[in-house]
Amino acid sequence: MKYELETIPVWEAIRKDRECFLCELMKEAEEHAISYFLGSSVMHPETRIAVNRRGFCFHHWNLLAAAGKSQSLALISHTYLGETLGVLEKKIGKVAASKAGRKVSASLKELVETMQERESGCLACEKMASRLDRYAFTTVRLWEEDPDFRQALAESKGVCLHHLEPLLAMAESALDAEALQAFGTELTTLVLQNLKRLEDDLWWMTQKYKAEHIDSPWNGCEDAHKRLVRKLIGEGRILCRS
Ligand SMILES: [Zn+2]
Ligand SMILES: [Zn+2]
Repeated sequence: MKYELETIPVWEAIRKDRECFLCELMKEAEEHAISYFLGSSVMHPETRIAVNRRGFCFHHWNLLAAAGKSQSLALISHTYLGETLGVLEKKIGKVAASKAGRKVSASLKELVETMQERESGCLACEKMASRLDRYAFTTVRLWEEDPDFRQALAESKGVCLHHLEPLLAMAESALDAEALQAFGTELTTLVLQNLKRLEDDLWWMTQKYKAEHIDSPWNGCEDAHKRLVRKLIGEGRILCRS
C-alpha cells in the first residue's frame, strides 16, 4: 500500500531530538484531530453523521470537553445524543416489553451488545492512526532514499518502545528483504543504545540520592525517571484501535 509522504514534518520531528520523534508527531496529530472536530468541520453534515455513528473514545471525549470550544461541542454532542437516544429507546423499549425468561434475556443481550458497540471506535484515534501510517511510511522511504536522513535518524534518540513495532511493521511491508534486514538492524540497535543511555542516566539519578553524592552535579539526570517512562510506553499513543 502506498501512503502520502510527510517529509517535512518527519524531518522536523527528528531535528527536535526528543526521546521519540513519532511521539512528537502523534502529539501534534492528536491536537489537530481535536481542533478538527471542534472547528468548522462541525458544520459539515458528513462530519456530524460520522460523529453520530462512531463517536470518540473516553480519552478523546475528555480532550474535546477540555478544549474550551463550548458551542462546537454542544452542537456535535447534541446530535450524537439524538442518535444514541434513538438507538437506546428502541432497545430499552424491547426490554421493557419483554416477558420474564428467554425473551427478556434476549432483549437484554441485544442492549448489552449495543452498549459494547458504542464503546468501540473513535474518530480522533482513526485520524491519528492514518497519520501514524503515513509518518512510518515516510520514515522508511526517507531512510531508504536520503542518506542525510539515514544519518540523522542514526544520530537521533530514535523511538520509544511503543513506536518500534509500527515502524518495523511498516518496514516489513515497504522494503525488500535486504533493506529490511539493514533497517531492522539499525533501528533496533539505535533503540537499544538509547535504552542503555537512559539506564546510565537513571543509575546516576539513584546515586544522587545517596549522602556521598549530595554535592555532586546532576549531570542532567534530574528527569531521567520521566524520560525512561516516556521511552518505555510512549507519549503520543492511539488508545482505541478499530
Ligand atoms: Zn513514541
Ligand atoms: Zn480516541
